[in-house]
Amino acid sequence: MSALPTLYHLIDGQPFASSRPPFENRNPATGALIGHVCEADAGIVDRAVQAARRALRGPWARLDEHDRAALLRRTADRIRARFDDFLAAEVADTGKPVSLARTVDIPRGAANFEVFADQIANTATESFRTATPDGRGALNYGLRTPRGVIAVICPWNLPLLLTTWKVAPALAFGNTVVVKPSEDTPTTTALLAEVMREAGVPDGVFNVVHGFGPDSAGQYLSEHPDVDGITFTGETRTGAAIMRAAATGVRPVSLELGGKNAGVVFADCDLDAAVAGIARAAFLNSGQVCLGTERVYVQRPLFDTFVQRLRAEAGMLRPGDPRDAATRFGPLVSATHRRKVLDCYARARADGATVVTGGGVPQLPDALAGGYWVQPTIWTGLPDASPVLREEIFGPCCHVAPFDDEDEAVARANDSAYGLATTIWTRDLARAHRVAAAIEVGVAWVNCWYLRDLRTAFGGARQSGIGREGGAHGLEFYTELRNVCIKL
Ligand code: NAD
Repeated sequence: MSALPTLYHLIDGQPFASSRPPFENRNPATGALIGHVCEADAGIVDRAVQAARRALRGPWARLDEHDRAALLRRTADRIRARFDDFLAAEVADTGKPVSLARTVDIPRGAANFEVFADQIANTATESFRTATPDGRGALNYGLRTPRGVIAVICPWNLPLLLTTWKVAPALAFGNTVVVKPSEDTPTTTALLAEVMREAGVPDGVFNVVHGFGPDSAGQYLSEHPDVDGITFTGETRTGAAIMRAAATGVRPVSLELGGKNAGVVFADCDLDAAVAGIARAAFLNSGQVCLGTERVYVQRPLFDTFVQRLRAEAGMLRPGDPRDAATRFGPLVSATHRRKVLDCYARARADGATVVTGGGVPQLPDALAGGYWVQPTIWTGLPDASPVLREEIFGPCCHVAPFDDEDEAVARANDSAYGLATTIWTRDLARAHRVAAAIEVGVAWVNCWYLRDLRTAFGGARQSGIGREGGAHGLEFYTELRNVCIKL
């Protein structure tokens, strides 16, 4: 093998290889091989789960919440101290523009630890005084205990951000974890293991196994009987497979899944803000954001103007080296994902779409010619039944359709199997409240998009997920609540 780096599993603080041959890690912007990654077999996954179990009962159990909060804060500090390492790794693995990773992914990766350090210091439980026939009464109080060993299975679109979003609350509430990063973006999770050791997190609390889903690390981990709960972010179909695995042993799941989110633009909106907001929601991270908008509904008087303005925004997105600070548009994550997105582009044409802009592969300088690029794309004119409007594409694309009144906008936004997020643009405050309440989603943004306060509930309705995380909401998944009743 070459001098390129190899990533190992990290178990109980030690690197491990496995019986399977390592797989390739490629840079999506160029297609170049940048390293190899060990693939876990069932034995490696078992070793990681047992290490997490031992740590749960050992040194980790002896730390109180203030100790744990201090370790989480030190982890955040260590991520910031090695900011450039995380940045370079995330850009190389995902192909996302460095400007995005610098302002969103890496800072949020650190902030997640601080938010849950604060949370654990401010978590109370209920207590009731109960009347008894002898008049002396009883005291009931809630006792929260860690759920146990948590499997954390992650996608590739926001690797560090989404991994820390799960790991930080899991550890804050006293659990230990085995993390399975996406096979496409494993590097920042390996770096996270390093900074946790530097921060003083005891060995065995944070373990990493690499590999794929079926017949690989993902399946072995979700089926492992000593895992007490599975928190997963990824596709809805994968979430269903993980639920089936979790049914054996009756283990809880927390699922953050796919979306086919609608943006609704009313004629009374601030047009400049709405165009900029929808352009971000459709094209940020090359459309590889679960909260992104692939269906846009625009009130008829504004429709033609809006489409032209959005087209102009898309026209400004030029492919460029993701490491260049000026680049705003990167490639898709993998050749496989690009094939899927280009199939959707072909399907849109076959279903009669008007291609307002894009629809194919951009002209590229030689250095980027081997990368997984597609053009930012806008369609109009698709029938509502087209799969392009019903299935998540996860690429830099959206369809824009006109509507006449509020009821129609709500009905069309709700015409989906998914229910993750929506973005609503209007100056009418009463309408904003009505529509936010009527669209069946986990997150409704008004006159903004992807504005996150990490203390708020996050999750999806319908096939976009089960459960809520964020702030205190993760307590339901990450802890068991025991009621203690004491006769006085
Ligand atoms: P994916 O479901 O293909 O893979 C996610 C992870 O699951 C990977 O680590 C993969 O190896 C693993 N996996 C695959 N099959 C498995 C199986 N049978 N058992 C166990 N593990 C398995 O998703 P992806 O393509 O990596 O990510 C994109 C998807 O993630 C999109 O659908 C997007 O909407 C969704 N997503 C949702 C949210 C949210 O918060 N709701 C956030 C980000 C991404």
